[in-house]
Amino acid sequence: MAAGDFRDVIRRAREGRAIPEDMVRVARGAASGEVPDYQLAAWLMAVAIKGLDEPTALALTEAMAASGGAPAVHPGRVDKHSTGGVGDKTTLVVAPLVASLGVPVAKMSGRGLGHTGGTLDKLESIPGFRVELEREEIRRIVKEAGVVVAAQTEDLAPADGRLYALRDVTETVDSLPLIASSIMAKKLAGGSPAILLDVKVGRGAFMARLEEARELARLMLAIAARAGRRAEALLTDMDQPLGFAVGNALEVNEARATLLGRGPADFTALVVRVAGRMLALADFAGDPEAAVRAALDDGTAFERFLTWVEAQGGRRAVLEAGDLEVAPRVAAVEARRAGVVTSVDPLKVGRAALRLGAGRLRKGDPVDPGVGVRVLAKVGARVAPGDVLAEIFARTPEAGAEARAVVDAAIEIGPSAPARPIVLEHLTA
Ligand code: URA
Repeated sequence: MAAGDFRDVIRRAREGRAIPEDMVRVARGAASGEVPDYQLAAWLMAVAIKGLDEPTALALTEAMAASGGAPAVHPGRVDKHSTGGVGDKTTLVVAPLVASLGVPVAKMSGRGLGHTGGTLDKLESIPGFRVELEREEIRRIVKEAGVVVAAQTEDLAPADGRLYALRDVTETVDSLPLIASSIMAKKLAGGSPAILLDVKVGRGAFMARLEEARELARLMLAIAARAGRRAEALLTDMDQPLGFAVGNALEVNEARATLLGRGPADFTALVVRVAGRMLALADFAGDPEAAVRAALDDGTAFERFLTWVEAQGGRRAVLEAGDLEVAPRVAAVEARRAGVVTSVDPLKVGRAALRLGAGRLRKGDPVDPGVGVRVLAKVGARVAPGDVLAEIFARTPEAGAEARAVVDAAIEIGPSAPARPIVLEHLTA
């Protein structure tokens, strides 16, 4: 494609007149490298400002999904995807939980970037756990353990890999059609027959407002329907961290407790709902939520978790025996007055964990599996002066003190706080 041709594509996007036919040129040009970064970046900015209409967003998704060839044959029966947040360790629990009830789960996950954590980083805090798997290994592990969570292969929707890297450095990540097409292109290319979308809403999410999250969910459901996939979306709260733990090994430990029926109330409620809907999408016979609760209470889900960890090379005995080792608890945030917790800003908590080394500022940065924050104060909790609101796990007292100040500023105490459910809405296609 001549460079000049692509200027027409950019111009139409800039004038808010992008057309479905242009989308193949964008996706092919991105995947093949024929369109240079500066032109793709200009196009991305135009779309971030002007948006895309639904037919064009659908065309972009399909073109990106096809950019690595025909869709894979999916080895699982159901997939899930979260738009990401702070303390989101849901996959670690729901994948083995759903598998323990007879429905195989195969999932591609990502690494953390910025204030959001990544499932792969969490899993890699388990000694020996491997996430870089070949297709054949993925198939074998699903057969053996009923569950696999692996890094995305390079040939899965390669146009998205290139566009996402550019979005990351051009402030064009938080665009509704670009997010929807990026997520759904990978889901379609991965071949999953049924998809449960967990769309986060709140200060720690891409979508801070319910209306925006609803719009994103609707667009992703429309894309799934057109591609002949079964899909549902849950809009769930990300206006405070999910559960207590934020940080890789800390989150694995919280997932472990949840699989043993001892998880935080908000996280357990989310797990039951997400796993329940995944089972329903896979035509589970019976009451899915009752089955999920039973599997958490009677050890079935935990046993499957151990089998899965072992199948991906992780040291089963370590998790059988107890929690993973974490960094020393060097500081605590205490309540200075009596009252009710009215707000815990997830963005600030996520940034504190990031600064401690739990996340990465740039792709490829190393992460420290042991550091992080445990926010014990949930919105609505009544506290007295001196109560511990949060604990900081750090390598040095200085790093701990810095994180402590950030987390302290994240928590507000007032006279009362309205209750906010963890699942805000359930949307079907
Ligand atoms: N996750 C993705 O894979 N893509 C986005 O654009 C946002 C979240």
